[in-house]
Amino acid sequence: MDNQFDIIVIGGGHAGIEASYVSSRMGCKVALVTMNKYTMGRPSCNPSIGGTAKGHLVKEIDALGGAMAILADKAGVHFKMLNRSKGYAVWSPRCQIDKDLYPIYVYQLLSKQKNLTIIEATVKQILIKHNKICGIETLENQKIFAPIVILCAGTFLNGVMWTGLKSTPGGRYNEPASKYLSNLLNEYGFEVGRLKTGTPPRVWRHSIDFNKTEISPGDEPPQPFHRNTRIVKNRIVCYATATNEITHEVLRTGFDQSPMFTGRIKGTGPRYCPSIEDKVNRFADKNSHKILLEPEGLFTDSIYVNGFSTSLPVYIQIKGLHTIPGLEKAELIRPGYAIEYDFFYPHQLKLSLETKLVEGLFFAGQINGTSGYEEAAAQGIMAGINAVLKLRGEPPFILKRSEAYIGVLIDDLVNKAPEEPYRIFTSLAEYRLLLRQDNADERLMDYGYKFGLISSEEFDKHQKKMELLKKAYQESKLYKIKPDDINPYLLKVGETPIDEMTNLHYIAKRSNINLNEVLNFINSTPEVFVELKKSPELIERLQIEIRYEGYLQRQRKEIELFIQNENKKIPENFDYWKINSLSKEAREKLSKIRPQSLGQASRIPGVSASDISILALYLR
Ligand code: FAD
Repeated sequence: MDNQFDIIVIGGGHAGIEASYVSSRMGCKVALVTMNKYTMGRPSCNPSIGGTAKGHLVKEIDALGGAMAILADKAGVHFKMLNRSKGYAVWSPRCQIDKDLYPIYVYQLLSKQKNLTIIEATVKQILIKHNKICGIETLENQKIFAPIVILCAGTFLNGVMWTGLKSTPGGRYNEPASKYLSNLLNEYGFEVGRLKTGTPPRVWRHSIDFNKTEISPGDEPPQPFHRNTRIVKNRIVCYATATNEITHEVLRTGFDQSPMFTGRIKGTGPRYCPSIEDKVNRFADKNSHKILLEPEGLFTDSIYVNGFSTSLPVYIQIKGLHTIPGLEKAELIRPGYAIEYDFFYPHQLKLSLETKLVEGLFFAGQINGTSGYEEAAAQGIMAGINAVLKLRGEPPFILKRSEAYIGVLIDDLVNKAPEEPYRIFTSLAEYRLLLRQDNADERLMDYGYKFGLISSEEFDKHQKKMELLKKAYQESKLYKIKPDDINPYLLKVGETPIDEMTNLHYIAKRSNINLNEVLNFINSTPEVFVELKKSPELIERLQIEIRYEGYLQRQRKEIELFIQNENKKIPENFDYWKINSLSKEAREKLSKIRPQSLGQASRIPGVSASDISILALYLR
């Protein structure tokens, strides 16, 4: 077998899929080395993609030319736009996926990809010479060489799974742990920590009494993730139920055998996604917690008990489940468990996701302290693109916080070095009205095209859409059409004369203009709106642009200021210890994280506004 590549990606999880997909499409010769080629993209936990802010990440990955949106649409069985009752900034698409189909589609996509070789093996060594990457060595002592390695090993590094006080080594259910890599990198000087996450039990469909639950259907019509997917279908429904005080009583009887409460698990877990025992313990005054029963696929009877993540002993899990309406006779397929694993503190990364310690070594995904498929995929695509740019000797591709949630995610990781699993939230973005899920293409598709990940035809189509939107915006402003009027007018015009007239009167009344002005508007600008009518998605976007015009302008102004500071670069070897007027804490933090710009420095906890003024003066 050929053993010389441009890039080696270790791990076929969500990060590794994107990294190998984009780097091979950008023309590099890539090896994806993973333990099992048929489990690539397997959802370790919830069979779903997207969700609050995570849906934004998927749309951004798609706009850059990544794979996740395509795969989610193919394997999707239940689509929903979350937070519809709230502002547009937080609308977030989410879909349930078929857990068995998703890895099949991953395999189909990657195995056909030009320049990409999938190698089924476990990596035991990363080969480094004079602080530069040379390649890897597998458990079977096979050596593969490349100047770049992207490590995406997920929860597998020294993974240990816990149910009650019983622990087993493993990367996730039924898959072995990866034992060597973190120890080796630790010897190289990388700071390694321990984190924890958990998953709920799965139960048999036939053992549930769905009459006692509430149906939670998908949206009609369902909305796909990928810009070119024409149709997706809701093929399942989910069911809602809830815990009660008896459930909580039962769970409390198992606290003395909880690996978390007894201190067996040392790693920190995700605060925002706690286990059921954690919820019962921390929110003692709450007498009920919501549970969603989610089918794991079309060809399986396995039901995922969302909201009941636990590592309590199996008999307590069963007893607790039996107190929940609909689950009184639930039969377990497999119990919930917690997993503890190694991660690398992400201040050891550059914003390109290359490590500061070893040239050519990139980290992406859960090993950087994040949690979630989408967060992993977002890092994977950025690491893949940056690996190629490095090989070409081009500057790295860094998304700003003002451009994308991906930018917010990586900037937070590198600057704030979270001590607990990091999950993206809309509240973390300063300019969230501009970083909406519906306009990811407008924000990022230029980059995807520049890197050759978006085809010319697609890019042309996108540009035409943007021109149409711009024109419709200008026309709407000219005729003072209000956002709410655009929808009924556009959807009805040309259908029936009566409807048309009713609508026109309605618009005139709402917009406080006379009917002639509305008619004037229609006669003078028909073609823009007739075109726009073909795309409800664009109508919605036009409404947002008009409705939030003032706020959007204000955010764009703030971004100008923000970018000024981002453009004030700090030399790579800058010696902060020389500036005596900086506080000691600031000097320590700045020397550790080594920010690339004044803007980045200002976001490091412990660096005060006065430290930043001093630094700015010094840099000038
Ligand atoms: P993974 O998806 O873990 O993939 C890692 C890949 O690397 C695998 O293909 C593995 O085979 C391969 N690999 C590892 N080591 C080697 C090696 N040495 N050689 C070759 N291949 C290797 N996320 C949430 O957002 N919410 C949750 O509630 C949640 N719960 C979870 C519960 C459990 C039990 C687990 C295991 C994970 C949970 N997650 C949860 C996390 C989610 O699964 C991850 O965030 C996501 O899968 C990370 O993607 P990744 O690409 O970084 O790694």
